Amino acid sequence: MTRRLLVTGGSRGIGRAVALGAAARGWDVALSYVSDAAAAGAVADQARAAGVRAQAIRADATEEADTLALFDAAEAGFGGIDVVVVNAGIIATAMPLAEMDLARIERMIRINLTGALLTAREAARRLPEGGAIVFLSSAAARNGSPGEFVDYAASKGGVDSLTIGLGKELAPRGIRVAGVRPGLIETDIHASSGDPARVANRMGGVPMGRAGTAEEVAEAVLWLASAQASYVTGAILDVAGGR
Ligand code: NAP
Repeated sequence: MTRRLLVTGGSRGIGRAVALGAAARGWDVALSYVSDAAAAGAVADQARAAGVRAQAIRADATEEADTLALFDAAEAGFGGIDVVVVNAGIIATAMPLAEMDLARIERMIRINLTGALLTAREAARRLPEGGAIVFLSSAAARNGSPGEFVDYAASKGGVDSLTIGLGKELAPRGIRVAGVRPGLIETDIHASSGDPARVANRMGGVPMGRAGTAEEVAEAVLWLASAQASYVTGAILDVAGGR
């Protein structure tokens, strides 16, 4: 069944893989970005080349006006939205909590948790029966990321609670909600930890012995978003190579 999907942070990494995986399934795609217009435009072009409608829209996930405009544009372009993937997120320089300043903690929570709540609120207001919301959480929500980013882990723990609660809240309306907890995935995000070799350095702790790809995460996201997952709600799927 054709779906109309909106993904936040679709210019790179996992969001890009979700956008292109959706297009490959014949789904229309609206993707947001915050800074890299060229990368976002290239993803939309690639999706269109697959034969679907696609839009790249600048929208800071922490700004209410941007978020409303993002949903308005997607709805106007496609005549509605069926799936929202809440993906935009950041990490920051690895350090123990004792060394973090308030500005860093507030930015982490604002983008990863407040931004997710805001995007999800709009989805809750606008999705029709049969719609689905999928959150990008993290294995950090389970392991806590000690010594690196417990603020990030806490933001993703919040996303997990949101997934569970919103799943119950929207179930009577026939809207499903699910989450995916990726483990160590090869994307640009790790560079902002301050360790350019973070993925290689951490691979030893993954039972499967390798990092995952953005496409492997996108497959799980798109299955949860699809009609094939019709009895799955409030669930959170680990895509973490056993970690
Ligand atoms: P990434 O490669 O760094 O891409 C981040 C995306 O989010 C980009 O499209 C970026 O847009 C966008 N973005 C950042 N801040 C934004 C904001 N305020 N408003 C709107 N968009 C914003 O990240 P990723 O690795 O694909 O991660 C995607 C999600 O998966 C995140 O929620 C992350 O926490 C989660 N995750 C990732 C991993 C991993 O190992 N990679 C593991 C667990 C969970 P621009 O290009 O315009 O900057």
